[in-house]
Amino acid sequence: PAELPASIIKRLPVRFNYDNRYFKDTWEGLPADGYTKWFERMIDDPRVTVSLGVDFFDESQPYNKKALRAAGVPVVYTGPIDRYFDYELGDLKWRTVDFKEVRYDEGDHFGCPVMNFSDADVPYTRAIEFKNFNPERRERQNPDKTVVWEEYSRFAERGDEPYYPINTDADKALYARYEAKAAAEPKTVFGGRLGTYKYYDMHQVIDTALTAYEEQVAPLLANITK
Ligand SMILES: Cc1cc2nc3c(=O)[nH]c(=O)nc-3n(C[C@H](O)[C@H](O)[C@H](O)COP(=O)(O)OP(=O)(O)OC[C@H]3O[C@@H](n4cnc5c(N)ncnc54)[C@H](O)[C@@H]3O)c2cc1C
Repeated sequence: PAELPASIIKRLPVRFNYDNRYFKDTWEGLPADGYTKWFERMIDDPRVTVSLGVDFFDESQPYNKKALRAAGVPVVYTGPIDRYFDYELGDLKWRTVDFKEVRYDEGDHFGCPVMNFSDADVPYTRAIEFKNFNPERRERQNPDKTVVWEEYSRFAERGDEPYYPINTDADKALYARYEAKAAAEPKTVFGGRLGTYKYYDMHQVIDTALTAYEEQVAPLLANITK
């Protein structure tokens, strides 16, 4: 690496140091108390009801696709867009990840929070060592133990958690056809990574959610209150 010009090293997707940051962006951050706390505070409002473990397509549930369509109420749908249309044009392709937790009796295994692997003899593509995201919390961490999650990448089947859109030209063409069908559902806003068949990082998905609220959800709500 020392022989490469700095301008090239800066653009390489690999790192030659132990910088603990995830990306190479100028500004990076995590919610101080984590995303879980953040969401708990957002939904802590008497106007918000949360139902977990409920499938939107399960017609025995009160807020299912069929019932809400019939009632003509606005819906923000954040599930897979092909699932919404019962895969009638075919399945969009995704990759998924199987996670394997490994615990080491060591203070620090990798020396950084994220280690990527492209070696032919390593079956996982990435390993995350959580404690290294927060070196400023060393005092509160166990000095003799560390937890690592290895990520095993594979093609997603129906029923797997879809993670990364494969996005070949054929997928893009298929998504465009689903998008046209979605446009014909005026009361349903297709949101998030699954509803729009895109990979987003958190700052991007937050931005698209706020924009979708302003441009698509607020006008639907305004129509109701009129
Ligand atoms: C493996 C992985 C690692 C990532 N790492 C990072 C990272 O390090 N940094 C970063 O910034 N971003 C990261 N991201 C991206 C970030 O997690 C996503 O952008 C963000 O979570 C997307 O939010 P979302 O609301 O669009 O989708 P999701 O968080 O997936 O939410 C969709 C919701 O819809 C629900 N849903 C789907 N179908 C149904 C149904 N039929 N009925 C009821 N509910 C349903 C799901 O249960 C889920 O709760 C990562 C993503 C993945 C997949």
